[in-house]
Amino acid sequence: MATTHKTRMLIIGSGPAGLSAAIYGARAGMAPIVVQGLQPGGQLTITTDVENYPGFREVIQGPWLMQEMEAQAVHVGTRMLWDTITSVDISGDTFVAVGDGGDIYEGETLVIATGAQAQWLGVPGEQELSGKGVSACATCDGFFYRGKKVVVIGGGNTAVEEALYLTNHSDDVTLIHRRDTLRAEKILQDRLFAHPKIKVVWNQRVDRFLDGDDGGLRALALIDTVTGEQSEILTDGAFVAIGHVPATELFKGKLAMDETGYLLVQPGTPKTDVPGVFAAGDVSDHIYRQAITAAGMGCMAALDAERYLAAKEFERVTETVQG
Ligand code: FAD
Ligand code: NAP
Repeated sequence: MATTHKTRMLIIGSGPAGLSAAIYGARAGMAPIVVQGLQPGGQLTITTDVENYPGFREVIQGPWLMQEMEAQAVHVGTRMLWDTITSVDISGDTFVAVGDGGDIYEGETLVIATGAQAQWLGVPGEQELSGKGVSACATCDGFFYRGKKVVVIGGGNTAVEEALYLTNHSDDVTLIHRRDTLRAEKILQDRLFAHPKIKVVWNQRVDRFLDGDDGGLRALALIDTVTGEQSEILTDGAFVAIGHVPATELFKGKLAMDETGYLLVQPGTPKTDVPGVFAAGDVSDHIYRQAITAAGMGCMAALDAERYLAAKEFERVTETVQG
């Protein structure tokens, strides 16, 4: 039978943003509920080494970090529920979400921390070699290719920025694009073409990712999109940079978003255009997309949720006294 769960702070998503909001929210006495979704712990659970999350001198594992974050959230009083939200109603005073088994979640405030997913090419070898040479995040994994050869796939701003960033680590960066012109802004293109460490390979589509004797990435099988000619490019690392998709389907027509679906917030805050509804992490951030920035935004969302409830309570008490 369907159950109704009530809380002062409802959090959708259990990545760094959702769990950080939960830690702050629980410590502020809001008894948060986190609805975890299909990927409990979020994107870091599908990676291995994490070397840039502050507080750890040694390399840590993404899944371990998220288990610790979840344990901390539970320890301070968060209720973690394993469900996926299929619809929301944010038009009333209480925000209502419905899980895929029919359970109902009612929050006096709502934190949306549903994240984003990298788009993948969907070709053979890509997922098998993910974390073994194939990545979708140069900021996260570029460091592991110090002094090695790397390629970036894509032709937008992200691909060009990833290629430029990788020159901090590698002297041999190749951008592979399926057409003969880039979509990226001109200023980025100028920097890319002028960079002595970057080559561009035009009109090539990745057909497969190929492994080597050590089980890691060895090469990419390419097909020329004009002539159909097949070739191989040897590489130690491949960064797929063909876009990200924010998980905001639930909020279409209900909250303001940009043309690519990222939730819009008031600059420098997690406040959406609906008072009491906050967005934190990759769901509203197409620029930084890091665990630490998501966690920071989760913290801000909880602090703002607490202030929102306090202001509402003050209003209610004032009305009672006056009325
Ligand atoms: P996410 O981590 O994307 O979490 C989203 C959460 O929302 C998930 O729990 C999901 O189940 C839930 N959800 C979605 N839809 C629903 C729904 N309808 N109902 C309920 N729940 C829902 N960053 C770093 O700082 N360092 C790194 O080394 C690093 N490495 C990375 C390696 C890989 C392979 C990837 C993919 C990313 C990496 N990142 C790294 C980026 C980092 O993982 C993200 O920036 C961060 O996880 C974003 O956190 P988030 O909480 O906003 O969202
Ligand atoms: P994007 O602009 O949509 O570009 C995606 C690129 O990947 C395109 O060049 C596209 O090729 C290519 N691509 C898509 N699917 C592919 C496939 N299956 N195989 C091979 N190539 C494929 O995505 P983005 O670069 O991630 O940028 C997303 C948004 O964020 C944009 O609005 C961008 O301006 C913004 N952004 C801004 C900044 C900045 O301002 N500094 C930085 C990063 C991102 P085609 O060109 O052939 O379609």
